[in-house]
Amino acid sequence: MMRRERYDVVVIGSGAGGGTLAWALSKTNARVLIVERGDFIPQEEQNWDPQAVWKHLRYQTRELWLDANGREFPPYSHYNVGGNSKFWGSVLYRLRREDFQDLKHLDGLSPAWPIDYDTLEPYYDRAERLYQVHGEAGTDPTDPRSGPYPYPPIPHASGMATLVERFRSFGLHPSPLPLGLLEHCIRCNTCNSFACKLHAKSEADICCVRQAIQQPTVTLWTNATATRLLTNPSGDRVAAAEVVRQGETVRVEAPLFVVSCGAVNSAALLLQSSSAAHPHGLANSSGLVGRRYMAHLATMMQGFHPLRINDTVFQKTVAINDYYLRGPDGDYPLGQIQSQGRTHAVMAQTVVPWIPLWAYKAWVSRGVDWLVMSEDLPDPDNRVTVEQDGRIRLHYRPNNLRAHQELVKEMRRLLRRAGFLAVVKHSHGARNTTHQCGTVVFGRDPRSSVLDPFCRTHDVHNLFVVDASFFPSSAAVNPALTIAAQALRVADHIAERDLRVSIADQMETMKQ
Ligand SMILES: Cc1cc2nc3c(=O)[nH]c(=O)nc-3n(C[C@H](O)[C@H](O)[C@H](O)COP(=O)(O)OP(=O)(O)OC[C@H]3O[C@@H](n4cnc5c(N)ncnc54)[C@H](O)[C@@H]3O)c2cc1C
Ligand code: SF4
Repeated sequence: MMRRERYDVVVIGSGAGGGTLAWALSKTNARVLIVERGDFIPQEEQNWDPQAVWKHLRYQTRELWLDANGREFPPYSHYNVGGNSKFWGSVLYRLRREDFQDLKHLDGLSPAWPIDYDTLEPYYDRAERLYQVHGEAGTDPTDPRSGPYPYPPIPHASGMATLVERFRSFGLHPSPLPLGLLEHCIRCNTCNSFACKLHAKSEADICCVRQAIQQPTVTLWTNATATRLLTNPSGDRVAAAEVVRQGETVRVEAPLFVVSCGAVNSAALLLQSSSAAHPHGLANSSGLVGRRYMAHLATMMQGFHPLRINDTVFQKTVAINDYYLRGPDGDYPLGQIQSQGRTHAVMAQTVVPWIPLWAYKAWVSRGVDWLVMSEDLPDPDNRVTVEQDGRIRLHYRPNNLRAHQELVKEMRRLLRRAGFLAVVKHSHGARNTTHQCGTVVFGRDPRSSVLDPFCRTHDVHNLFVVDASFFPSSAAVNPALTIAAQALRVADHIAERDLRVSIADQMETMKQ
């Protein structure tokens, strides 16, 4: 007979969404189980080894997904405690006030969210404290914040400071990138896409999960994959999750379930949990589970000068948001520009493998790297489906391309004007899954959304989805702080509505 376990809340996935929410619920007396399919990332030499990370893909999932044409591809995704946050660049942005409203783009409408900026602001404040975000208020013209950052900005290295002055002289408003870094960070050049060997990066494993499991009420299962959610016969409550752990299938029962598997896997889990009561997938009466997948349009650009060696180690400190709401020649939003961590020769070689490493080394040592990012728009045909054999299929045709091309063109012009002799660019195009979002969207109307504004499914009362899935639009800033802020908001809601306690009161009691 299948083994049974019982908890008060089951959180499936320990990344930016699940990890943050579990941390907040650890302040209540609820017995919380975190189910995580991966393990802890060990602290080891390979954490910072570009060969291990970029050539041997040591930490990336070995899973292969299918694209719209049925071709296999390795998703750039990580299954481990902390999820993708473990490898993020720790750029922790608030969405802009306008991102919460209907916003006209060159190729269509970015729809309004069911909540406004002011609703989320107190949770952004809390998320920035939790993830120790450094930044400077008042320099970015699009920044909606009403108070200071909890930590001062990370200073620009001298080469970047010179570039910032050049950009200012063009009439732009460069600002410090908001970064989540802990006090003992040494600002090395292996941050974005690497796990931090010093545990100095603000991410969900270090800031949330390891803190939460200090509480006797919180249990973490690693190497444990939720394969299915089972409902009661009428289908209005989840009764149990089936979890495969070390070869054994366990039935985990609870009054509350939170799915936080990341936008693609959360949709897949709901679709795989179809039943007589939910024939098209769990909580899918709208038919929208898996649909409106978005991932941002991202192009890496590098300004190159053969006679200038770039000696900056930690380069990722500059943002340019002047074109976020309108471009230089039009009224439409184009997106945002941010400096990027240094490209490593091995990383560059993955793009064109026949060019020798010494040539790449000579090239990247003379380049300054940037990420140019634009919003893609929700399209119901961009979607996650699950094949008969359980494999994930991603149907994604990028849209809003004209805005992105305009931003890339403008950045090329800026870099040339700043003195770079050549500008090279690269994009992973439709296979870039790092900023996946929008597959289980929140909204007020059950016909046009899957979740309510607190991320509770409209169809199943004790089921929440709290990760990047809830985004009704992708905005053009990095998504994670918004995922964390909403996770804190949902945790408050669960505590007050479902567990009948106040997290704020509990935190006060714990301090005493
Ligand atoms: C290299 C890289 C750099 C990035 N840089 C930034 C950045 O600078 N700023 C930013 O805002 N964002 C960044 N991102 C994106 C950011 O990491 C994600 O938006 C964020 O982690 C998403 O949070 P999530 O909770 O939706 O999913 P994840 O963090 O991916 O967490 C999902 C978790 O669920 C687990 N899981 C999945 N399926 C199951 C299952 N069936 N059972 C049990 N567990 C399961 C996974 O193992 C994982 O731990 C970056 C991403 C990458 C890959
Ligand atoms: S030391 Fe700092 S810069 Fe280097 S990986 Fe860790 S958090 Fe990132």
